[in-house]
Amino acid sequence: MSKFWSPLVKSLVPYVPGEQPKMANLVKLNTNENPFGPSPKVIEAIQAELNDSLRLYPDPEGSSLRQTIATYHSVKPEQVFLGNGSDEVLAHIFCALFQHGQPVLFPDVTYSFYPVYCGLYNIDGKAVPLTDSFEINPEDYKQPNGGVIFPNPNAPTGRYLGLEHVETILQANTERVVVVDEAYVDFGGESAVKLVGQYPNLLVCQTLSKARSLAGLRVGFAIGHPDLIEALNRVKDSFNSYPLDRLAQAGAKAAYEDEAWFQKSCKGVISERERVTKALEGLNFEVLPSKANFVFARHREKSGEGLAQDLREQGIIVRHFNKPRISEFLRITIGTPEQNDALIAGLKSL
Ligand SMILES: *Cc1c(COP(=O)(O)O)cnc(C)c1O
Repeated sequence: MSKFWSPLVKSLVPYVPGEQPKMANLVKLNTNENPFGPSPKVIEAIQAELNDSLRLYPDPEGSSLRQTIATYHSVKPEQVFLGNGSDEVLAHIFCALFQHGQPVLFPDVTYSFYPVYCGLYNIDGKAVPLTDSFEINPEDYKQPNGGVIFPNPNAPTGRYLGLEHVETILQANTERVVVVDEAYVDFGGESAVKLVGQYPNLLVCQTLSKARSLAGLRVGFAIGHPDLIEALNRVKDSFNSYPLDRLAQAGAKAAYEDEAWFQKSCKGVISERERVTKALEGLNFEVLPSKANFVFARHREKSGEGLAQDLREQGIIVRHFNKPRISEFLRITIGTPEQNDALIAGLKSL
């Protein structure tokens, strides 16, 4: 703390991202990166952009990429908002679209950035408990609020909520914006994007960090009614008009032009997820059903913290959250077959 800090900064409780260790040869299964890597076409597109044009500002509207994403999702470009990672998109959503005076609702076990944005924008948040089986109960979202946000599939549980239940939440909150954060939807869930035409209060957020294996490029987007997108643009142009640089725009566009790579990568993650789940169950873990690129599991006898520590000593990094309800769980990113073998062997040895 310093006397130079603003009152706002003094009050902040920042998000703590998963560790990016500097050591080599780690089996890194802690931040839900995609082990299969980006399409070679993405690398080519970025290389083609490495030229004198870097002296010029990028397209502030990302028109070409927005058109590509709009076509991919069968919406209009004015229904697409781009950001420097979906974290930035989420920040703008909290600023632009959540009402003050009533709390924003999100699950008690969820992406821990949501309460952080509440703090940054001075919005009240209310954690709505998941059921005993760590599911979202749509009935719990029928209460006064300033907006609703949840990931689907949820993180870190991996549990997916069917679109009929998402619709229940949308119908109960027609006067508020409902945000569905679909960071992991491509690993087996069905996207709510197809509902945006029907629900002007629905905003769907996605990222290229997970299924498209571009966490290092920082591209995310939201899709919704043009009025919601306009609100986000007002915030963006009051903050940073050029959130996506030239390389990010070119690389992201190329990622959508290699559907075969994308499909293969998702299928690879899904089949490894099923294999890891069975192996963990064989090792006396309870594994929540996951539609994400990670599993959330607790051992029936051993402590989560102890297991995370023991794995770390073997060079295997998983995520452990020292938080109520989930302190016995490990969140394990699905890696390559070799990494997953190392994880399973490491756990067997314990
Ligand atoms: C990874 C993740 C994000 C952030 O993705 P970026 O686009 O890399 O900022 C957003 N929401 C959830 C639930 C995530 O797990």
